[in-house]
Amino acid sequence: MTQTGDSAGEPTAGEPSATGVGAARAIASTLRSTLGPNGLDTMVIDRSGTVTVTNTGATVLDGLSIDTPIGRVIEEAVRTHARRVGDGTTTTALLIGGLLDEADRLVEAGLHPTSIAAGYVSAADHARDVLRDRSVPIDPGGERLRQAAATAVTGRWDAAATERFAALTVGALRAVDLDPARLTVHAYAGGELADSELIDGILVDVDDSSTTIDGVAADDRRSLSDPTIALVDSEIRLPDVDASGSVTVRNPDDLAAVRDHERTNRGELIRAVTDVEVDALVCQQSIDDDIGTALARAGVLPVERTRRDEFDAIARAADATPVAAVADLDREALGTAGAIRRRKVGGGNVLTISEFPGESHVSLLLRGGTPHVAEETRRIVEDGIAVVRHATAGGVVPGGGAGMIAVSRAVTDRASSVDDRSALALEAFADAVTVIPRTLARNAGVDPIDALAELRNRHHDGERTAGIDPSGTVRDVFAVGVIEPVAVPARCLETAARTAGLVIRIDERLDGESTGGSGIDGSSRERGRAHAGDHVHSDGDDHGGGHDGGYPWALSH
Ligand code: ADP
Ligand code: MG
Repeated sequence: MTQTGDSAGEPTAGEPSATGVGAARAIASTLRSTLGPNGLDTMVIDRSGTVTVTNTGATVLDGLSIDTPIGRVIEEAVRTHARRVGDGTTTTALLIGGLLDEADRLVEAGLHPTSIAAGYVSAADHARDVLRDRSVPIDPGGERLRQAAATAVTGRWDAAATERFAALTVGALRAVDLDPARLTVHAYAGGELADSELIDGILVDVDDSSTTIDGVAADDRRSLSDPTIALVDSEIRLPDVDASGSVTVRNPDDLAAVRDHERTNRGELIRAVTDVEVDALVCQQSIDDDIGTALARAGVLPVERTRRDEFDAIARAADATPVAAVADLDREALGTAGAIRRRKVGGGNVLTISEFPGESHVSLLLRGGTPHVAEETRRIVEDGIAVVRHATAGGVVPGGGAGMIAVSRAVTDRASSVDDRSALALEAFADAVTVIPRTLARNAGVDPIDALAELRNRHHDGERTAGIDPSGTVRDVFAVGVIEPVAVPARCLETAARTAGLVIRIDERLDGESTGGSGIDGSSRERGRAHAGDHVHSDGDDHGGGHDGGYPWALSH
């Protein structure tokens, strides 16, 4: 099999391809430099002109305008992977690039796309078994869990911040017996990353401009102890005056009658709340301003527009039963907590509801300088939580490309035991997966070919945990804590194999249509030699501008 060297993922603008490799290469080449602990940040400018500097594969994808069928298939597969697994976005994109690069060669050599696709999927199945065989279980109370979280967030921040966030994530999960349903994550702009904290209880955003909350503040009732909590799952407002929702006022008496009617209704509504001695009324939707003010005056803390996950979490933790309308409230439906406190975060207000009678609940309060940084932080931490969960569920394998070398060797072995042409696809897969250690080496500034050769030798000599460390040195990465849940590389390989297989076949089916090029904004170009004479893009859609030999698309806005 041809050695791919470190050419995988190079943008080769305009090169004809029979396998959608152009689109895959373009995506891979943007993401490549972000892989691993030495990953560089990428500046992404979206269509609205917003600039984001990021190191997260999924965020980079957000900024690309991918506009051809093949590019979109790849993008969607990578996104779905990111959503489901929480880590390995860049890895998946690079693997797809590597697999399609190899497939290109095989198609040129005359292998049928269907055989390649089948070979890839069977190789990924084998890879999963190999990785599972090598995985080691993880002690939820031990040091390894923090290491897995740190590996997952490596490269996003500096080393100190990485350690801090790994500790914060693992600490939060341990506080709730590793049950992510009892952990909520909030990110607020303003403040420093280092100001992020773990809070006991459920954090609830409260609308800063809400007059009802100001009413409470004016009363200086900043905290409630042992509050009863009512949960209402719909909007709280006065019933419409008549069924049609409108009323015609003909004279001043009518108006007075309407007002009277409203006052009576409001009074009844407030009484329904105070009769059962509610201290805090948490509503999933909005609370009419007048009602909110009246509630606050009556000594009830109104909380409106509560996030769905927070609302559900409060119901569980406080042991409250949400009701559909205020009129349905009874004492049975109420829950309790030890305290509700109000505090300022950044420019806004939050409430913390804590000291629950039953299961504990914690919240991570993350801070970032700008809304973008805050949001990015939330994304990274949520990924970290997913990774910790995978690690406890299925065990871990060494990272730093060690797992991929193991897979490469095992799949090569399998290829040698197959005596038909499908061996070619297995060999191609074995070569393609080395894109991960090669890229880690390259990003660390060392020669990818040398690093790969050394890794192979070490694994050949039985050093199963040899990987690329952050300095680019080949060493026992397990010993230095570079570990990842077995689910991450296994699922990356599975997604990549299926997507590459799909793309090869899509291309076949779309034969005769123009689907070539990198598939990314402004890069639409004709398919090239393979389809000369076929229908070719003629819309002059070249807003990326002058790609000849240059960057294959524009991050335009
Ligand atoms: P992805 O989006 O694929 O998760 P990352 O930028 O997070 O991309 O890089 C993940 C790769 O970096 C994995 O192969 C992982 O094993 C490797 N890696 C993470 N931390 C380290 C580290 N400290 N040393 C070496 N490799 C690491
Ligand atoms: Mg990662």
